[in-house]
Amino acid sequence: MPQREWLEKDYYKVLGVSPSATDKEIQKAYRKLARQYHPDANPGHEEKFKEISAAYDVLGDQGKRREYDEFRKLGPLAGAGPNTGNFDVRTEDLGDLIGSLFNRGRSRGGPKRGEDQSAEVTISFEDAARGATASVVVIGDAACSVCSGTGAAPGTVPKACARCNGTGSVSDNQGFFSFSQPCPACHGRGLIIEKACPSCRGSGVEHRARTVKMRIPAGVEPDARIRLRGKGAPGKNGAPSGDLFVTVRVTPDSRFGRRGSDLTVRAPISFADAVLGGVATVASLDGPVSVKIPPGTRSGQTFRAKGRGLPDPKRSGAKGDLLVTVEILVPDRLDARQRKYLQEYSKVFPAEAGSTGR
Ligand SMILES: [Zn+2]
Ligand SMILES: [Zn+2]
Repeated sequence: MPQREWLEKDYYKVLGVSPSATDKEIQKAYRKLARQYHPDANPGHEEKFKEISAAYDVLGDQGKRREYDEFRKLGPLAGAGPNTGNFDVRTEDLGDLIGSLFNRGRSRGGPKRGEDQSAEVTISFEDAARGATASVVVIGDAACSVCSGTGAAPGTVPKACARCNGTGSVSDNQGFFSFSQPCPACHGRGLIIEKACPSCRGSGVEHRARTVKMRIPAGVEPDARIRLRGKGAPGKNGAPSGDLFVTVRVTPDSRFGRRGSDLTVRAPISFADAVLGGVATVASLDGPVSVKIPPGTRSGQTFRAKGRGLPDPKRSGAKGDLLVTVEILVPDRLDARQRKYLQEYSKVFPAEAGSTGR
């Protein structure tokens, strides 16, 4: 609720920012002043520090700031302190008066932002890697398909409200002051529906399934939640739509795994290549990659091919690596010649002479 101080204090001036400052600018200004006047760093400025904190308490909170702005915009009252002598009203009473006007305006079902909705989409591993356009099915409140969300019967269009001239707000005179509030005839919308749409009864909203097309960024993480602003449920009485949150499911790939933006792949190699060294060729998203296997490589050892992984959706142009994990193949069938050589091998490499394999 607006407070007495709100009439007396120009919080923008206290923080040294313009009334049109962005949230970021306000935060920056506050931090700078708070550092400058912090009682620990700079004793003797307790009052100033309190003032700065009180200003940021309001301007740093979007809801409070909006209320504060509205409150100070109210006609001749703006900036009028208790000592201006123009009106013989105590500020406490004014606060009550204005507060009750605010509440009256709000209880009338004026514009209301649409609800946030959520949906899921499943894409292939490759689409997640390369980025894709997906169609997401959303079930819930949507713009009425008969009237396209206008609420007016087919063949008719909403008309500008005569009471408020289509502005959506009217002035309410209270003694000296005139306060603006949502128009009671059109509920703040500025439009009047003469013949309501029979399907949605004028609400402009119906419960149904609809499809939303979306772009999925390359390298998207499985189960990432993507926010689509304004793609949620439609707002009421001309208010903006809510947001749509889409959870992206990714079907696993038989060849690849992933660890962040690194792509993982297995490389089966022969025992001889592991011992003597060689080259393993594995698949990557952009064609085969050859990895050098040094002599004495063990099963489970991992080699890194720089920049051959997945795009990092958070850093444009950046790519993860391809992690190649070696797997030593054990042949399950041998011909007579192979068997003979292996038997020779085991004679010259008794178990205790070799590596433990770890
Ligand atoms: Zn309709
Ligand atoms: Zn109106």
